[in-house]
Amino acid sequence: MTSSPHAKNRAPRTGIAAAAAAGLLLAACGGGSSEPRPSVLLLTLDTTRADYLSCYGSTRSKTPALDGLAQSGALFENAVAASAVTPVAHASILTGRFAPGHGLRVLAGGGGDRLPAEVPSLARAFGEAGWATGAVHSAFPVSRRFGLDQGFQHFDSFDGKARIDETGKTTWDVQNLQRRSDETVDRTLAWVAEQDDPFFLWVHLWDPHDPTLVPPDEFVAGVPQNEQGAYHPIRLYAREVEYLDLQIGRLLEGLRAAAGEPGLVVAVTSDHGEGLDDGMVRHGWGAHRMLYREQVHVPLILAGPGVPQSTRVSAQVRTVDLAPTLAELVGLPFGGTLDGHSLSPMWSGTDAADRVAYADQVNGYDGNASMVRRRPDAAFQFVWIEQPWKLYWRPHQPGASELFHLGEDPIESQNRLLDEKEVARRLLTDLAALEPWVTEPYSPPADIDDAAGALGALGYGGGDDAAAEYPWERVPISEALGLEPREGDPLVPIVRR
Ligand SMILES: [Zn+2]
Repeated sequence: MTSSPHAKNRAPRTGIAAAAAAGLLLAACGGGSSEPRPSVLLLTLDTTRADYLSCYGSTRSKTPALDGLAQSGALFENAVAASAVTPVAHASILTGRFAPGHGLRVLAGGGGDRLPAEVPSLARAFGEAGWATGAVHSAFPVSRRFGLDQGFQHFDSFDGKARIDETGKTTWDVQNLQRRSDETVDRTLAWVAEQDDPFFLWVHLWDPHDPTLVPPDEFVAGVPQNEQGAYHPIRLYAREVEYLDLQIGRLLEGLRAAAGEPGLVVAVTSDHGEGLDDGMVRHGWGAHRMLYREQVHVPLILAGPGVPQSTRVSAQVRTVDLAPTLAELVGLPFGGTLDGHSLSPMWSGTDAADRVAYADQVNGYDGNASMVRRRPDAAFQFVWIEQPWKLYWRPHQPGASELFHLGEDPIESQNRLLDEKEVARRLLTDLAALEPWVTEPYSPPADIDDAAGALGALGYGGGDDAAAEYPWERVPISEALGLEPREGDPLVPIVRR
């Protein structure tokens, strides 16, 4: 795509200064405004660790497209994901709320595995204000099944349904549940070419997630394979990130041409990271579903009208901050009870303090989390990061909880909980104020067969581990931490073992 087929419906070029100030100039009332409005790309890179991008210092993979994007805008060095399970984390990106605020908590569990319709979503706000809204996806775990289609006029995703093979057997062919980023980008550009209005577009790419979704041969040449032909997972991951970046370059070029004036606002982040080899060494876990730095440190890059160029922000931010930031940049009303806040004070310098980060995993009541069989300590995880401290709270096993000093120990290798219980008390008190706990099992999901089969084909856990029993009781925070009682202690649920 080399020209802008929609320029006829856009206001004429208004000059660099006006474009740069678009976030301030655009009418806040949305639809009906005669002001030119930028199009918006929200790009989520599934399972992509920040430290595998060269703009974040990676030497294992080169990512020139994302490096260039970061140069043209703002890169947030220390962004924290809200969860390490795909639909939960994406719901936080799309709503500006942590999981307790949006209600999508697990992959499988009736009452907890869909984004409730009443939760305001960014897509609906854009649509009501006159943007064309579209989503183009690369895998089933962000599909309609999880309620993530809310507000999208165009939703190019996956149904997760079984196929019947030639012998009459029900199968979930993994290639019916995911697609490579070259195809996703092709489909995206085709949709954009049909739009006359400015667009709000969510593109989901996921090459690094899956070892069965392999880039073209020239990208994987030299990656060692085992006797069965499977690629070395860590070496493959780095090449998959590079392939992702190549397709992102193509996507950005096409969308910028299509967006016309006043331009394209771009936001890039990941739903979560991945343990990989260093996560395995440090924390005994190479995948996601846990909440150490390798799982929750994600890229976050913004560029386009209203975002200053060549900006790097070192303060801690959260992926829930993206939705209110995008809304502010285009003058879109998007309020309510958000956990996130616009990131613009970070680059304007009016408030560049670290933000408190939260993340959770409710694996113990997830009907698709057989990993808790191998990692019982991963059943209930609640993370609260008030720099420099990170509390990793496991209410079903309080004694297995951890406290890290991220300033002195950024790789989270030394648990300081026993030495710093007063710090832990302070952080747990703040965490408890969010009331994030889930202490009742969810009912079986209505479509368990389809969802479980589809997720199983994609390598998710499956299993019936949600049947495990957790006898919760509420105790004062001091007792939960083994400290002397203190007047006014809030109560928190724990399981006594
Ligand atoms: Zn994911």
